[in-house]
Amino acid sequence: MQNYAPPTAEHSTVQDLLYAPEIRRAFLFIDEAQEETTEELIRICEIPAPPFKEDARAQYVRRRFEELGLESARIDSEGNVIAERAGRSSHPRVILSAHLDTVFPEGTDVKVRREGRRLCAPGIADNTCGVVSLTAVARALDAADVRTEGRLYFVATVGEEGEGNLRGVRHLFTEGEFRTGADGFISLDGPGVERITHRALGSRRYRVSVSGPGGHSWGDFGIVNPVHALGRAIARFAAYPAPLAPRTAYNVGIIEGGSSVNSIPERASMTVDMRSVSSEEIDKLESYLRRVVELAVREENLQRATSGTSLSYEMEQVGDRPSGETPIEFPIVQAAIACSRALGIEPRLDCSSTDSNIPISMGLPAITIGAGGMSGNCHCLTEWYDPAGRELGLKRVLLLLVALAGVAG
Ligand SMILES: [Zn+2]
Repeated sequence: MQNYAPPTAEHSTVQDLLYAPEIRRAFLFIDEAQEETTEELIRICEIPAPPFKEDARAQYVRRRFEELGLESARIDSEGNVIAERAGRSSHPRVILSAHLDTVFPEGTDVKVRREGRRLCAPGIADNTCGVVSLTAVARALDAADVRTEGRLYFVATVGEEGEGNLRGVRHLFTEGEFRTGADGFISLDGPGVERITHRALGSRRYRVSVSGPGGHSWGDFGIVNPVHALGRAIARFAAYPAPLAPRTAYNVGIIEGGSSVNSIPERASMTVDMRSVSSEEIDKLESYLRRVVELAVREENLQRATSGTSLSYEMEQVGDRPSGETPIEFPIVQAAIACSRALGIEPRLDCSSTDSNIPISMGLPAITIGAGGMSGNCHCLTEWYDPAGRELGLKRVLLLLVALAGVAG
């Protein structure tokens, strides 16, 4: 990991950059390419990318990177797409990234419907609008013949959402191509132009499974019931007084189990998400969860003791996202603030759980920002995206990328 100060981290230098002829040309290209960018957005959105099955979308993005003249477009062993754009030298190495995956399972209808200006489809904002920005920015750099000092990497990651547990970005920075670090990592996630996520919201996820003998609801009445035990656990867990500061949250997101209304289930499980800006609060929440599950199973076993049956349970960790912070003083945060202000945007510093959690937790300079435009109902089937104002987001991304990589003078 190199320690370098980007030549354009200061406001005045970003202002200079803003008026450089090649940047003006790139901005003009972004404006003129709006329709094509929207068409590309729709094409990518309509290629399903369910959790752990991003391959079709990855192949498409790899091909597009190749067509756009990026170098060595490839898919790594985890499924991430990577392509490069040479600079005058090989450093600094700056990564522009967006996650390919959606939260929606296989078989979800991803056909894009238009409602006025709005484009409606699951995953269109989170994160197809981020993915399309990679190609939109690469095209604009090329069309305007922008030459950078450092080398740019365009990366589309797998496994950001849910049980993907950041597997794509984790691979990149642990065993993959950036295991030796990078000088800057910018993740594009969702719409908007104000957010600069420089703090990583940590989370921990568990699947809690309760098992028993199972039986007939009438014939075997009186034996232990895993669903009843889970119900007791959830009631207690949901009463946890999460602090407002440091902000902490929890959610039982999935409950599963049972086979019919007149069977006592053999098994039931729940998947729990716990988040906090403080890792100590996550630890507290986790030990509370362990206590309530143990208590709930014990209660159910006690109440049904005369039946001679008992439940057992196990807790499996299905997610662990480290927390951390890229300090505000770091050049990448300062450059993001300066680029936002140069474009008339007042940025909002933010804490969230994104691909940047991994590099941030390793002390690498990383942020996550929006790709422009507006959206609503993210992670719902009614998700929509409105590209109005997207050009401002793309310009901010391009300006920041060039500010960090430096202009080849
Ligand atoms: Zn996302």
